[in-house]
Parts: sequence; C-alpha cells; structure tokens
Amino acid sequence: MGRCHMCNLAIHAGEAWDVSHEIPLELGGEDRGDNLKPAHRKCHRDHTAKVDQPNIARAKRKRAAHIGAKAAPERKIARARKEAAPPQQKASAPPPKGSKLADIGALPRRSMFR
Ligand SMILES: [Zn+2]
Repeated sequence: MGRCHMCNLAIHAGEAWDVSHEIPLELGGEDRGDNLKPAHRKCHRDHTAKVDQPNIARAKRKRAAHIGAKAAPERKIARARKEAAPPQQKASAPPPKGSKLADIGALPRRSMFR
C-alpha cells in the first residue's frame, strides 16, 4: 500500500495508480528518484489537466516571448511594389583640362588670418 502524493490518501490494492512526476518533465523535472511519486490515476489526470498543463503552456509562452518569437500573422501583409530603380550612375571622368569645371579646383587661396 502506498500513499497518493496528491490527495495524501492511501492507494489500496487493486486501485488504479500512476507514477507521477512531481515536477513535470516539461518544467525541468527529472525522470527519476525524488521526482517520481505514486498517485491515484484519477488524481494524477486531474492534476495534469488543471495544474500542470496550464503551467507548461505559460512556461512555453514566456520562453517564446523571451526569445522574441511571435505567432505568424493570420493574413499575409500586402507588400508595396517597388518601382525599378534608375540605373546607377557611373563615376565620371575628371573634367578635361581647359574646361570651366577644371578651373574650379584652382581657385585662389584664401588667407586663414585677416
Ligand atoms: Zn489521490
């Protein structure tokens, strides 16, 4: 005869019982030793449905939020069509000598002190 770790009542011979993980595996509990406890099958199923599964779902949501994962959008977001970019301009050659543009670089020096 054992004792159900959930309701603390005796588990009698012939009663259905499970080995229950006190801390669910999904929440980091170990699959051995102190984490394994006997429980009535009914107690075990109720506890799993009412306590463990909501806690596991909450932990998964927190983990997802922590890593920045987001649910996929329900509908596809329409993407604006890009117009074709104008062709890239090529670097121009230096202005030919004697042209007006060539003279721009040859302005008279200005004094730094007046
Ligand atoms: Zn029980």
